[in-house]
Amino acid sequence: MRRLLCAAALALLAHGALDAQTALSRREQRIRAAIAAAGDDQVAYLQHVVDIPSATLDLPGVLRVGETFRASFDSLGFRTSWVEMPAAMRRAGHLVAEHRGKSGRARILLIGHFDTVVQPAGPTFVRQDSLARGIGGADMKGGDVVILYALKALQRAGALKDLNITAVFTGDEEDCGEPRPFARQALIDASRRSDVSLAFEGGTPSLATIARRGISGWRLTTTGKQAHSAGIFSGAGYGAIYEMSRILDAFRAQLAGEQYLTFNAATLLAGTDVAFDTVTTSGTAASKTNIVPRQAVAAGDLRFISPEQPERTRERMRAVVAQHLPGTDAQISFTDGYPAMPPTEGNSRVLAVYDTASQALGYGPVTAMDPGLRGAGDISFVAPFTDGLEGLGALGEGDHSPGEWVNLKALLMQTERAALTIARLGNRPARQFHRELKAAPGK
Ligand SMILES: [Zn+2]
Repeated sequence: MRRLLCAAALALLAHGALDAQTALSRREQRIRAAIAAAGDDQVAYLQHVVDIPSATLDLPGVLRVGETFRASFDSLGFRTSWVEMPAAMRRAGHLVAEHRGKSGRARILLIGHFDTVVQPAGPTFVRQDSLARGIGGADMKGGDVVILYALKALQRAGALKDLNITAVFTGDEEDCGEPRPFARQALIDASRRSDVSLAFEGGTPSLATIARRGISGWRLTTTGKQAHSAGIFSGAGYGAIYEMSRILDAFRAQLAGEQYLTFNAATLLAGTDVAFDTVTTSGTAASKTNIVPRQAVAAGDLRFISPEQPERTRERMRAVVAQHLPGTDAQISFTDGYPAMPPTEGNSRVLAVYDTASQALGYGPVTAMDPGLRGAGDISFVAPFTDGLEGLGALGEGDHSPGEWVNLKALLMQTERAALTIARLGNRPARQFHRELKAAPGK
């Protein structure tokens, strides 16, 4: 009997050696204990930063949240810097915090943001058992403290010193400053020095994001010859409204239904006199029922999963626009918003590490979220340069609304899963993650 038990134990050991990642190592158990020990402290920290109002355009508020985190990263031994934006951009800037470990190990980029959509008048954090109400509690000061307390626990367990980590917290994720490439330069630069990106927007117990759709804007204007309505379809041509209707309906008929491609017509103004303010997306239209209308303008967005999908779609939209009805003209223009984060094998490998860590901790499997269910975010800017995983932050609901709340109990789970994933990825050789694109000159 004893021999049998021994054999079984040896078999377990051998299996464990082959697949050690499915169980917690001693050091990982220490990491877990450090996270549990700091649980109350973490909630108090979250309350402190949630109670600093920091909507994107509240620059002093975003700076105060940033200074709080900066001090914490300084005390962890990170080299920190504040990336300022020019005054004309009216954005607070970003925190970059870097930690150098062993060379040759994978370099991890952690992504958060300090700004919120809603600007409260004052403190909003109200604890209710294991939940808390508070602006930014879930989106995403909760995710920011998941990052910080994962790193604190790694340090306490002696697991931080070998790791190569850059954390970038943007100050304008919710309302990105313009020009966008400039506003995101620090983040993109950090990703060029990194191998894997982990982003901490709102999480779920069993799903994480390996793909996000990108966003582009479009604006369509049509013109017709203003004339007596009796002449429509003959001498007066078809007018701006029929031309607009033709184009929008052809978009729907010819382009709708492709996977992960959507194009929403969000607003439309038409008549003899149209004023459309592109900044506020509002305007006025005037006409008379006996006039063939002269002008129409419509605007909307375009969401896509890969870099080539919007290019192909824009070509098809331009082709539709070009087939004018008699006596009309039309033009469409596009603006770039967020690039897409396409699903890649590399992203799936990062998810597998997170999933294994979650299971080793006893929290169950984590699978890929449907990209159609998630909007664009900062990780999309670095998707061309690193493998990545998003949605690792706090659990909660009511993002972008005054009723936002965050699950305090689940902070522990998210922090444990983050810490293990950072350690497991960060101890791998960097060459496992090398990407062709990163080396491309001028990109
Ligand atoms: Zn967010």
